[in-house]
Parts: sequence; structure tokens; C-alpha cells
Amino acid sequence: MTISVLDRNLTEDVSPRDLGDLHDAAAQVEDELLPCRTNNAELWFAESPSDVEFAKTLCQDCPVQALCLSGALERREPWGVWGGELFLQGAVIARKRPRGRPRKNEVAA
Ligand code: SF4
Repeated sequence: MTISVLDRNLTEDVSPRDLGDLHDAAAQVEDELLPCRTNNAELWFAESPSDVEFAKTLCQDCPVQALCLSGALERREPWGVWGGELFLQGAVIARKRPRGRPRKNEVAA
């Protein structure tokens, strides 16, 4: 019997893994089921906040999403989108800030 990473019940109970485990799991899945292989991989490391949010959304349908996220947390990924979350300096952050200096005074809405 072959155990598939497509079985979401298996991916619910994940422990921290290294990058090799993720690579092995991804190798068992058809490439067209892995959003970061079927879309422009630059989205996962994009400068644009909207592109980053789009990559995070695409990860939600990935069959190895839970494994990808747990591994990235364990490795403390320095940057990029992993498992549907944005990492910066080893921690998950909510959103990517746009480039440039923040406004000195917020503009009234
Ligand atoms: S969860 Fe996202 S970054 Fe991880 S393998 Fe899937 S598509 Fe790629």
C-alpha cells in the first residue's frame, strides 16, 4: 500500500521536518498539484505585498501545505512564503509592508 501525501488526514498530524522531507513528499505529488511549481515561483519571494498575498492564497490548496509550514517553522525560514504563511527572519508575519518609508502623518480617510 502506498501512502500518499494527498491524504489530508496524514498531513494534519505533522511534526517538524527538514527540507529533505518536504522535497520527498512533494516528489510523490504530481507537479500540477503544487502551486509553487505551476505558477511563477517568484511570487513566493515577491517584493509586492499583493503578490505575496496571492502566493499565500495559492498555498491553501497545496497537498503538502501542513508539512511545508511545519518545516518552515522548524527551520526558521529567513524569508518567503512557506505553507501559506509569510516568513521574515525566521518568524511568521501577517503582511509584507510595501517598499519605501512610512508616512510621517497618516492621511485622514
Ligand atoms: S505550501 Fe506553498 S510553498 Fe509549500 S510546497 Fe505548497 S505551494 Fe509550495
